[in-house]
Amino acid sequence: MSLRDVDEEVYDITIVGGGPVGLFATFYSGIRNMKTKLIEALPHLGGQLSTLYPDKYIRDVPGYTKILARDFVKKLEEQAMQFNPTIRLNEKVIALRRLDEKLIELETTRGLHYSKTVLLATGMGAISMKKLGIPSVDRFEGRGVFYAVTDKWAFKGKKVMIVGGGDSAVDWALNLKDVASEVMLVHRRAGFRAQEAKISELFHSNIRVFIPYVVKDAHGTERLEVVTLTNIETGEEITLEIDSLIPQIGYEMNNSFYKSWGLDVDERGIKVNEKMETSVPGIFAAGDVASPINSIKLNLITMGLAQAIIAVNCAKNYIEPSAPMFPGYTANLRL
Ligand SMILES: Cc1cc2nc3c(=O)[nH]c(=O)nc-3n(C[C@H](O)[C@H](O)[C@H](O)COP(=O)(O)OP(=O)(O)OC[C@H]3O[C@@H](n4cnc5c(N)ncnc54)[C@H](O)[C@@H]3O)c2cc1C
Repeated sequence: MSLRDVDEEVYDITIVGGGPVGLFATFYSGIRNMKTKLIEALPHLGGQLSTLYPDKYIRDVPGYTKILARDFVKKLEEQAMQFNPTIRLNEKVIALRRLDEKLIELETTRGLHYSKTVLLATGMGAISMKKLGIPSVDRFEGRGVFYAVTDKWAFKGKKVMIVGGGDSAVDWALNLKDVASEVMLVHRRAGFRAQEAKISELFHSNIRVFIPYVVKDAHGTERLEVVTLTNIETGEEITLEIDSLIPQIGYEMNNSFYKSWGLDVDERGIKVNEKMETSVPGIFAAGDVASPINSIKLNLITMGLAQAIIAVNCAKNYIEPSAPMFPGYTANLRL
């Protein structure tokens, strides 16, 4: 499709977001014999797994004691493609309009699409990492300062400093300790937000942990060479030579535009009922972006996959009320 193209073909379901939840929903709607389109803003599929932690092991998806995020995405893609869905990459959905009971218009950065139902699996939205906001650090972004790790082998033999105290920071420190020549972790307070087992592994490893320190500034000529840390209790300063700085101090998710699509939102995401229906008929949400009313929200892959199954079966039933909600067992499928 070229700029401002209009795809007039009406799909049964259009899934927005090609993270694990969107990919699994794409497979599942194939099972339900629904004409399916998947639209993803990025040039690749996999969502947070491909963008934020491709080289990290996932240990809590069924059937695998551990699997690299990038390999899990490959498996999901393979599974999703079995029913020949239409996939649009590099195309961001910017508006949704319900034209009538069974027709929704999706406006993207490249054109218009039409669908009887829509499943929003947009996760954290267009992910943006929180920046340190220190001008002397920011000027080295891409030249020693990295807010995301897409290839851990790029840090082979390097002196790496990670900033933060959450899962991402601790995960990357542990993942890089056997790749980099030295790993340092800088955190502003004694308390960590990472899993207890990981914190214990951190303190039993050769990773140098600086607490309670913050990054003050950075120096270098072409690339980052030196950082200065400040102890926030004593004011003491330390200057260290490093090759790479990886701040992992959180993500920002902007869900304010969902309101302009007529959807009810709360601080956790798009509000959905037990059928994963949003406040707009025909529009469903699942995965990290969904905020199930009166229910616990766990931003985990398996939670999103189960929600995708509910959403797709309910979308099928929405466009074809005589279709059973229960899809039958896949053991009987001929693929
Ligand atoms: C460092 C880290 C480690 C983690 N480890 C684990 C783990 O071990 N186990 C576990 O279960 N979970 C883990 N998680 C959480 C897990 O990654 C998420 O729960 C999961 O990715 C949610 O999937 P999703 O498909 O809902 O959203 P996402 O993975 O966020 O995918 C959403 C996709 O939608 C796209 N998108 C957004 N807006 C638009 C738009 N307007 N138009 C088109 N496309 C759009 C985005 O580009 C993205 O590709 C981890 C998360 C992080 C950050």
